[in-house]
Amino acid sequence: VPAPAPASPVPDEVPAYKDASQPVKVRVQDLMARMTLDDKLGQMIQAERLGITNPADVATYGLGSLLSGGSSQPTPNTPEAWADMYDGFQRTALSSPLGIPLIYGVDAVHGHNGVKGATIFPHNIGLGATRDGALAEKIGRATAEEVSGTGIDWNFAPCLCVARNDRWGRTYESFGELPMLARTMAPIINGMQGKSLSDPGSVLATAKHYVGDGGTVGGKDQGETNISEAELRAIHLPPFKEAVRRGVGSVMISYSSFNSVKMHANSYLINDVLKGELGFDGIVVSDYNGIDKIDGQAGFTPAEVTASINAGMDMVMVPFAWKQFIDTLRAEVQAGRIPQARIDDANRRILTKKFELGLFEHPYTDRTFLDTIGSKEHRDLARQAVRESQVLLKNAGRVLPLAKDNQKIFVAGKNADDIGNQSGGWTVGWQGASGPVTPGTTILEGIRHSAAPSTTVAYSKDATGIDDSYDVAVAVIGETPYAEGKGDRPGSMGLDQADLDTLARLKATGVPVVVVLVSGRPLDITAQLPDWAGLIAAWLPGTEGQGVADVLFGDYNPTGQLPVTWMKSAAQQPINVGDGQAPLFPFGYGLRYRPQQ
Ligand code: BGC
Repeated sequence: VPAPAPASPVPDEVPAYKDASQPVKVRVQDLMARMTLDDKLGQMIQAERLGITNPADVATYGLGSLLSGGSSQPTPNTPEAWADMYDGFQRTALSSPLGIPLIYGVDAVHGHNGVKGATIFPHNIGLGATRDGALAEKIGRATAEEVSGTGIDWNFAPCLCVARNDRWGRTYESFGELPMLARTMAPIINGMQGKSLSDPGSVLATAKHYVGDGGTVGGKDQGETNISEAELRAIHLPPFKEAVRRGVGSVMISYSSFNSVKMHANSYLINDVLKGELGFDGIVVSDYNGIDKIDGQAGFTPAEVTASINAGMDMVMVPFAWKQFIDTLRAEVQAGRIPQARIDDANRRILTKKFELGLFEHPYTDRTFLDTIGSKEHRDLARQAVRESQVLLKNAGRVLPLAKDNQKIFVAGKNADDIGNQSGGWTVGWQGASGPVTPGTTILEGIRHSAAPSTTVAYSKDATGIDDSYDVAVAVIGETPYAEGKGDRPGSMGLDQADLDTLARLKATGVPVVVVLVSGRPLDITAQLPDWAGLIAAWLPGTEGQGVADVLFGDYNPTGQLPVTWMKSAAQQPINVGDGQAPLFPFGYGLRYRPQQ
């Protein structure tokens, strides 16, 4: 007689929410039926990692989510350390009675930019110049793989802002000044989210910042968007429509106001338009301390919390004061000012995404993706993106492409040999930084690599030491890193003194000058342009400077087109296509070396 089989658990001992064969809807219902009010409030909280002083709190308070925000420093040093950190928090979350996994978010806005060694892609403004939605999808995929390698499940990208005033410090996070561009590049969302969120290497994407962030008066970050609803719907809403159509999993609310109503409390635009009219069924997440700012005073009040949750906020990014936030939320629900149904709706949305991501089945880091971080394949993709993003604006006497053989090339400028400068803000640190912040190829290195052995490439950052024996000078100048409001330029939008000095030294020799402008937006260059034989807008290309050299030497026939209207002077801001102002270069402008095949 064979021994009896070991007792298997009777089916009803496995709660439905833990049964992967059940439909997500059933699992969510089953789980929610087991949750207390406090469990539900905890799920709605996204705390900053640095706001967790006692890791056990993640389980004690049943926190739904953590983030490593842009402004949170320092971050782990290696991809493995990120994965270890993630797994540690996840282990704690799973130790709570219901064992609900965490979802962890970062801003991987041009590659997995918080991680040293990751592939850094061009910022969105450069991608907008490519008009290449298929490329965007590949970049989304590559980014998601690198993000997955560190365990992270949620990306606060893409920014779908339509930047209407180049004074804005976030112009480079925009694909350009027309909604058509964000719509064209929206496949980046599908790259990030994969065919199915549960596919390995997929992350939840975020369309941000809803809505009108790029339309503020004076291009002021977190400012006031004072336009008609018709204009809001024509310019700023279409990218979000497209994102929802593509199944984006989350939408982040903008810090800005729409006609004096803070977006974080704008029930009409969140509840009625986004969730109602557009049918968005994912997670609405607040932006950092956005709820605090509803009344213009620091810190949140019960009235702000209630206004925001009732306006449709599901997940609250509340970096540090999250314990107080939970207490306030509880009191407001108990007082009947926030309906229980609203809390349930928020939880349904959050838990649905956690189930769809497969977090209950695979809560820990899939370390097979560690190998993709900064891989050759991803760097090649980034190089291709750089090539396609370059916009050739001037080519007098066909100074470009540069010849590779028997030349004397003089390279100068503060952005010629600086990975940090060519990558811009949101690179390793929130604001970015000058210098070798992460591995990559500088534009100078790219030039040296492309030139034949018979060519001399000399370099001096500020152009001291140049003489007239050169065939051509390449000046790589422009902006240095900034992020968000720190990059607002309410005053001059011209070149800085260092660049002007560099240019003066070059001009004095009479050698033809080709300018490669590394910047997050158009700059006021009208006074200097006549001195230049060639001009390429390189935007913020990221770690693969070789792509810029590929265009300089004609290994790639430029195809980029301006994603913004290029002002003649800063006084024209805001300047946009169709507004009747005469630009320096119109929207869509971009020269070729030869007709495209
Ligand atoms: C930015 C968001 C970002 C968040 C988290 C905010 O300051 O506006 O774009 O996702 O920080 O880092």
